Amino acid sequence: MIDFHTHLDLYPNPIHIAECVNARNMFTLCVTTSPRAWLGTSRVFKRHENIIVGLGLHPEIAAVKVNELEQMLAYLLEVKYVGEIGMDGLPQNRATLAIQKAVFTSIVKECAKQNGKIMSIHSRGAVNDVLTILRSNPGAGIPVLHWFSGTKDELRMANDQGCYFSVNPLMLNSTRGVSLIAEMPRDRVLPESDGPFARWRGIPLQPFVAEEVAFGLSRIWRMPSNVILDGFKHTLNKLTSLRF
Ligand code: MN
Repeated sequence: MIDFHTHLDLYPNPIHIAECVNARNMFTLCVTTSPRAWLGTSRVFKRHENIIVGLGLHPEIAAVKVNELEQMLAYLLEVKYVGEIGMDGLPQNRATLAIQKAVFTSIVKECAKQNGKIMSIHSRGAVNDVLTILRSNPGAGIPVLHWFSGTKDELRMANDQGCYFSVNPLMLNSTRGVSLIAEMPRDRVLPESDGPFARWRGIPLQPFVAEEVAFGLSRIWRMPSNVILDGFKHTLNKLTSLRF
């Protein structure tokens, strides 16, 4: 099993869930929402070799945590995986868009300066801005657009820019999600849970959704789910073997 975007540190019992995840998943990317959270979480999860803790500064709290930006940029030297970063253009977050953009831009620029990172990116309601910033910093590494919810044109643009996508099982329940998945590049998709934020019938998704995502993709792409699961592994290997 693989989970390429989860907030393990925010489940009610992170120590216990991390042990289960480390045993059951071959790879889990635990993204964090602030550099201070990364510092604490990576210390606690250090002993779990199948869990990687991404260094993040979540766009929805970028304005209140902007004082941690310097710390974020300094810690980048120590990591290969960055996330959760990005921008959120929903109406309730529009007031902070300028600051989100400044924060995201400095992080991406620093990633480029350091020869690239693997970045788990939030782009809800702000795909165009996110793609423009990535395009201006071509050496920033591999962008993995998490829970992509843009338009088909934006998807095509992201695809042309070489983006990867992490697919959430909840995307399988929406017509829009399904139509986007249909056009995603088969060799650049990984599964994600985004738990405990992502919920199904009130219950947080668990970090074990790779098969569920594979079953969904198998219906949409008309491919056997075991081929899709193998594809996830192949895609993951490509990313983990990259040397930045
Ligand atoms: Mn998330």
